[in-house]
Amino acid sequence: MPAAQPVLFLSHGSPMTALGGDELNRAWERLAPRLAKPSAILMVSAHWNTRLPVLSGSRQPETIHDFGGFPAELYALRYPAPGAPELAQHIKRQLSEAGIAAGIDASRGLDHGAWVPLRTLFPAADVPVLQLSVQPERCARHHYALGAALAPLAAENVLIVGSGHLTHNLMDYLRPGGERPAAESRAFRDWVHARLMEDSPEGMEALFDWQQAGPGARFAHPTPEHFLPLFVALGAAGEHRRTEWLGGGWVEDALAADNYLFPPND
Ligand code: ZN
Repeated sequence: MPAAQPVLFLSHGSPMTALGGDELNRAWERLAPRLAKPSAILMVSAHWNTRLPVLSGSRQPETIHDFGGFPAELYALRYPAPGAPELAQHIKRQLSEAGIAAGIDASRGLDHGAWVPLRTLFPAADVPVLQLSVQPERCARHHYALGAALAPLAAENVLIVGSGHLTHNLMDYLRPGGERPAAESRAFRDWVHARLMEDSPEGMEALFDWQQAGPGARFAHPTPEHFLPLFVALGAAGEHRRTEWLGGGWVEDALAADNYLFPPND
């Protein structure tokens, strides 16, 4: 019987987070020694957007530097973990059995939503990594269902990670001065955090309706792709989860960078 893995939701920071030394990295450094080595890692990254779910099927995924205008040292960073093409086929079948059609992209590499946190969590890069895309045109319930279909993987020693951001308004991130964090971002972050920690069916219903129910939601997420990985993680964690907050602070006092762990159900 292989070990059961927890499920994670990570705020992955800005590309600059890869250089280390901030509160977000310290949260990951505290987490790293607590994680048993998985057989593979499935990263559901906000930085891969498709109409239908797609899995990466590369045997040796390249490190994608999917950002512009950052210091040269960031473009020299590599995360040379192997891929997991057989596992991609397995997950595609698993999703199909749950009624979810998915594709496989054999050439897709690892975007910074995947490799920035993995460099701190698994610095040896010796655990196979594959990615699953998010569907910004689809709702929270779709992503929850996607996660629920993935849930059996956690018992097969696969670490499922939703990688997004608790709030993600880049215009606010680039804005000089003013109140930081913005009141709307703080209100949304506090509302989501309270719903996650109360861990009730009512809280989950409210989260599903986040764009209407969450104060400041439109400001905190002008586009939904950085919030949707949270629902994949929640779906994979299942109904009777216990939620553990891992901290993470704020990136540039603008983007809420909270991280959460959902232990395996016993
Ligand atoms: Zn991002």
